[in-house]
Amino acid sequence: MKAEYIAPQKGINAFNCPNCHVYAKQQWFFMLGASDNQGYGQRYNNQDFLISSCENCSSPTIWLGDKIIFPIHSASEPPNIDLPDEIKQDYEEARTIANLSPRGAAALLRLSIQKLCAHLGQPGNNINADIKALVEAGLPPKVQQALDSVRVIGNNAVHPGEIDLKDDLETVNKLFKLVNFIANKMITEPKEIDEIYGSLPENKIEGINQRDGNNN
Ligand SMILES: [Zn+2]
Repeated sequence: MKAEYIAPQKGINAFNCPNCHVYAKQQWFFMLGASDNQGYGQRYNNQDFLISSCENCSSPTIWLGDKIIFPIHSASEPPNIDLPDEIKQDYEEARTIANLSPRGAAALLRLSIQKLCAHLGQPGNNINADIKALVEAGLPPKVQQALDSVRVIGNNAVHPGEIDLKDDLETVNKLFKLVNFIANKMITEPKEIDEIYGSLPENKIEGINQRDGNNN
C-alpha cells in the first residue's frame, strides 16, 4: 500500500521532493549569488528566494515566499497507480499546471472523477446523477463526500461561484489527495482483497460458499 505523501511546504524538515518524488530530508538556504569577477567580489543576497536541497537526489527546489517556482510541475502528489491510463493523464496534466493555475487543475480533476464514475459502471455524462446511483448501490459515505467535494469545487473553477480558487493551491492539493482516496477505496483495496481471497485453498472457498448459501 502507498505510504503517505507529504506535500512540500516552506521551512519543513522533510517532504516528498518535487524532483525525485521520494520523501527526503531537506536542507534550507537563502539565495546568494557571486559575481565571477573575483577582483571585486560582488555578492548578491536575496532572502526572499529560498532553496531547499534534497538529501536523496541533491536537486534544488527554488521558492519565492511560500511558492515553489522550480520545478514548475509535480508539487502535488502522484496519481494512484491503479487508476486507468486516461484518468492518470488528466491527473498528471492537472499536476503540471497546479502551481500556475489552481483553477485549471481543479477543473481537470473534476473531469477525472467524471471519467472515474464511468469506470465504476455509470453512464459518465452527469456526475451528479452518477454519484447518486453509486450511493444507491452502496457507495461508502466518505467516498461519496470525497466525490462531491471534487465535483463542487471543480464546478466552481469553471462557473462563477462562492469558492475562489484563483490562488488556492492548498485546496487544490487536497483535491489531488481526494481523487487518490477515491481510487484507493474503489479500485486498489478491492483488488488487494480479491488477490488475498483468490489465494485461499479451493476447499476453503467452497466451504465459505456453502456457509453463505451460494453454490456457484
Ligand atoms: Zn529529491
